[in-house]
Amino acid sequence: MTRIAIIGGGPAGLMCAIIAKRSNTENEITIFEKNDIAATLLPTGGGRCNISRYSTDIKDFAQNYPRGEKFLYSVFNQFFVQDAIEFFESIGIKTYTQEDERIFPVSNKSLDVIFALKNEVKKLGIRVINTQIEEIKIIDNGFVVDNKYFEKLVVATGGKDNKILHTLGHNIIPQKPAMFSFEIKENFLLEAAGVSIRNITANAKFGNKQIEVSCDLLFTHKGISGPIAYKTSSFFASEPYSSNNPIRLKVDFVGEELSLQNLFDANPQKEILNIVSAFVPKSLGKILLEHSNISSEKKACIINKNEREIINDFLRGLEINAVAPVPNSGIVSAGGVDLNEINPKTMESKIHKNLYFCGEVVNIDGLCGGYNLQNCWSTGYVAGISL
Ligand SMILES: Cc1cc2nc3c(=O)[nH]c(=O)nc-3n(C[C@H](O)[C@H](O)[C@H](O)COP(=O)(O)OP(=O)(O)OC[C@H]3O[C@@H](n4cnc5c(N)ncnc54)[C@H](O)[C@@H]3O)c2cc1C
Repeated sequence: MTRIAIIGGGPAGLMCAIIAKRSNTENEITIFEKNDIAATLLPTGGGRCNISRYSTDIKDFAQNYPRGEKFLYSVFNQFFVQDAIEFFESIGIKTYTQEDERIFPVSNKSLDVIFALKNEVKKLGIRVINTQIEEIKIIDNGFVVDNKYFEKLVVATGGKDNKILHTLGHNIIPQKPAMFSFEIKENFLLEAAGVSIRNITANAKFGNKQIEVSCDLLFTHKGISGPIAYKTSSFFASEPYSSNNPIRLKVDFVGEELSLQNLFDANPQKEILNIVSAFVPKSLGKILLEHSNISSEKKACIINKNEREIINDFLRGLEINAVAPVPNSGIVSAGGVDLNEINPKTMESKIHKNLYFCGEVVNIDGLCGGYNLQNCWSTGYVAGISL
């Protein structure tokens, strides 16, 4: 019988506990959780829990982790997307793959995922103690947590509150928010708050780094949010951008060759706002035209060359300068336990034997769309099976 402590009952800690118990029922497992186990899954995927994203190609999938890409090869070789789907089936959660390849429970309810994980924990006789762990003592043959002795310890405390990490003797890459909304320089765009645009392309540039993202964009009363903001913020999480030196996005609302002249010639009596609204929601079109001092009611036939160029510029490459994260909007964090100090085949610490990590507590974070939870299921599995 091996006594195992797992600190953190989020998706990674729970996966680890379930796998460790299933693979050896002699293991005596205790989860220490300061809140309710699995509660962090509730808001995921907008309450639908985007469990993962369909893929059979590990290298291609791993490219979606700005931190952790290569480390994850060996982890995903042991437990990948199909394994996660089968795991969920084994606890009574059937999943489906959406058109955009994101995977959700058939019920579209994160609550069902939470209940299923909790039931499995109960069924397997895994002990849960609801307390906040303030201190871990590393002793010769194991660990002392909450005044109890354990031979093995797993730290799965996520990416937010990690004071205890600093007592473990590991190098900790400072944890910074990633996947967040941006404050922007263009105040006139704040009037577009609530406007959401599906599947458009933006090029984001900072210094000599750039990324092209094609997904949804949401305007908010502080700036921009939604997948375009999340992907951009993950990619540039460690860069020193600021209001004087912002990340520059160029948003293309059209996505294909466009001859405005032909369009105007074909619709000479149409008001310009109605033409622009073929590419952007009407409210945003109005804001963009007003900002450019072009009357929304002007007929296409009297738009001059200069105005046509202005319209072309904002439709094909609207410039948005991202200056700072919107406070507390971070969905995941970049940073955590240095990957050089963890064995990717086992998730065991290279510094202390019998100490394991899994989930967001390590320096791995993915783009939006199910990658972060897949990291939890996979690293949780590898830690669990190695225990
Ligand atoms: C709003 C929102 C939506 C999201 N949607 C998705 C999505 O749809 N798909 C996706 O892939 N990812 C999504 N994510 C990201 C995903 O939820 C996280 O990556 C994931 O929860 C990380 O899991 P974890 O187990 O590593 O850490 P966490 O989920 O943070 O769990 C860690 C647990 O440890 C506990 N804990 C921490 N310190 C202590 C301590 N000292 N003592 C005791 N307990 C402690 C915490 O209370 C917590 O329950 C979303 C995140 C947010 C915020």
